[in-house]
Amino acid sequence: MRNMADRDEVAENIYLIDNLVYSIPRSGSVYLINEEKKALVEVGPPSSVDSVLNGVRAAGVEPEDIDYIVVTHIHLDHSGGAGVLLTHMPKAKVVAHHMDIRHLVDPQRLINSMRKVQGDGFWGKVGQVVAVPSSRVQAVHDGDTIELGSQQTLRIIDAPGHSPNHICIFETRNGGVFSGEAAGSLMADGKIILPVNTPPAFDLEQYVATIDRLMKLNPSRLYYSHFGVTSAVQDNLEQAREKALIWDDIVTAALRENAAESIAERMADRFRDEIELARGNIPLYDYLMSNMQVYAAAYVKYHQDKHRAETAGQRKR
Ligand SMILES: [Zn+2]
Repeated sequence: MRNMADRDEVAENIYLIDNLVYSIPRSGSVYLINEEKKALVEVGPPSSVDSVLNGVRAAGVEPEDIDYIVVTHIHLDHSGGAGVLLTHMPKAKVVAHHMDIRHLVDPQRLINSMRKVQGDGFWGKVGQVVAVPSSRVQAVHDGDTIELGSQQTLRIIDAPGHSPNHICIFETRNGGVFSGEAAGSLMADGKIILPVNTPPAFDLEQYVATIDRLMKLNPSRLYYSHFGVTSAVQDNLEQAREKALIWDDIVTAALRENAAESIAERMADRFRDEIELARGNIPLYDYLMSNMQVYAAAYVKYHQDKHRAETAGQRKR
């Protein structure tokens, strides 16, 4: 039996596929854009490949007919399954930021880094990452366009912060933006918006600048990679921006008090009421809470790097 939720048409010719990332429902979104040419935005980790293939077919599209797989950034829960999916999508090209292509073609460094961040126990849920052949990647820059049909063109937007080479994708038919993780994560059916980020390359300053850029662009909706779609664009962007700065204040205060070990708890406590709303989706709630240390580490690492840069700058003067 087909699950309606797995093939929701969330905007004209755009379908949301739940990729059941790490076996968590309603946590990882893949979008299928069904035009003369067909594109996926995001894929999920290798362990999500079957969910993606089922979702594509449920929307009435054959995997062999997919032309593009666009990934917003290189983290494995977004791009990791691309290599495996290509074996089911013989004509597809993987579209990624020009600086991230190397990690698709040679994923070992990325695997090592993510394994270190998430821990070995977690690693079993990711699945086997397969390299993307260099003949099947398409590097993009800010402003590049990909035409899918007479009414649908994708435009690449540089959106650093969550990761250095993160991109967002504007789509002309509905005027929406695939925001990846640039605008935070939407959870529990839109009840939770949190600026969750992971080390080692999160940059708060860039993150806020990217949100400002998206606010100016004022798209009709945001298609989140975690999870789903909203038309409350400005409000959600404002929340992600404000909460990122609040978490940063918490980190600043804790580091000043030499209380680094308390940061994850303080961060969770600050938005406790909101986080509690995830209890309707226990796997999501557990994931969120067990990852709070990782999110805290992203903000701490940013602080330490910034502090180091400032100290080096002062010495030069
Ligand atoms: Zn990410």
